[in-house]
Amino acid sequence: MPRLPFNRPYLAGREIDYVREATLARHLAGDGSFSRRCQAWLEREVGCPKALLTHSCTAALEMAALLLDVAPGDEVLMPSFTFVSTANAFVLRGGVPVFVDIRPDTLNIDEARIESALGPRTRAIVVVHYAGVGCAMDAILEIGRRRGIPVVEDAAQGILARWRGQPLGSFGALGAVSFHETKNLQSGEGGALLINDPTLIERAEVLREKGTDRSRFIRGQVDKYTWVDVGSSYLPSEILAAFLWAQLEQASAIVEERLGLWRMYHEALAPLEQAGRLERPRPPAEAESNGHIYYVMLPDAAARDRTLARLVSAGVHAAFHYIPLHASPAGRRFGRTAGPLPVTEAVATRLLRLPLWIGMTADDVARAVEALESASG
Ligand SMILES: *Cc1c(COP(=O)(O)O)cnc(C)c1O
Repeated sequence: MPRLPFNRPYLAGREIDYVREATLARHLAGDGSFSRRCQAWLEREVGCPKALLTHSCTAALEMAALLLDVAPGDEVLMPSFTFVSTANAFVLRGGVPVFVDIRPDTLNIDEARIESALGPRTRAIVVVHYAGVGCAMDAILEIGRRRGIPVVEDAAQGILARWRGQPLGSFGALGAVSFHETKNLQSGEGGALLINDPTLIERAEVLREKGTDRSRFIRGQVDKYTWVDVGSSYLPSEILAAFLWAQLEQASAIVEERLGLWRMYHEALAPLEQAGRLERPRPPAEAESNGHIYYVMLPDAAARDRTLARLVSAGVHAAFHYIPLHASPAGRRFGRTAGPLPVTEAVATRLLRLPLWIGMTADDVARAVEALESASG
């Protein structure tokens, strides 16, 4: 039987047409008409005052750290169960990640543990919406407001998902999304910074354009452009934006299809959960996900590793996920934990992600479920 890959980047159909159109228009640098279309789409769909395309979610997080003026020794609260970029973006500015444990139902930062992790040097609270399942944003924003600490959403996996009906990425002062080829909507590499705090918009444009006021110049607001602040080059080429536009046009169909596969897994795995062989995800009712990841929890680390090896040798490419950052060499060097992280440590050793990509058939899902049934026995 052919192998069932873990992921296969989806092509919506018009990518090459749009790349050709952008190429022939001879506007190849950033911020042309495709970039503007993508940004307007993000502003409309997420409901944020300003979206800026970046070349990755990592870049958008780096911009967030710059915009919040994170300085050496400033502490930034975040989960340990996340991708390295969540932490690295702030460590690059001398920030100290303070790792907070996660909730067992969402695998997101546990809002009940945030308050006690805050200190006089806390500069930001960074939340991650794992698997496109929203964090408890109302409670988290309330803590931030009360203590005057901005909230940043790492919504890399969260595009078009919602918490209590509101799109992820629209809650915090800043949000970051990813269009990496492993995400729901993709342009190979790519991302965007979502700016919900309007006072940060103008400076974000400057940071992204090498520290110049080029954006104001293009709008005719200044008659020459010059170096006005620190900055770097965070904007993607029009070629990339053209590719991305083909994906954004199909975004709701893409999410629907992924949710369909997610539900197929969820239904088919109910008997294995009843038999006590594994646990299925149990996102809270407030979280409307985008079907980014389907995972199960095996009883312990040995069962997970054994099941994963058997699945892979049966040609079904399941995967584990993050090595917790607090246990990694760089995490130990640059960060610290806010108390013990028992949920993070257990989840990291028990979690197994199943193949989920558009183009998978009901037979593929059935094959993965059967393989899991025999592998987990
Ligand atoms: C994918 C991902 C990133 C990084 O996204 P890039 O676009 O590859 O930089 C950051 N955080 C999380 C939670 C992710 O899943």
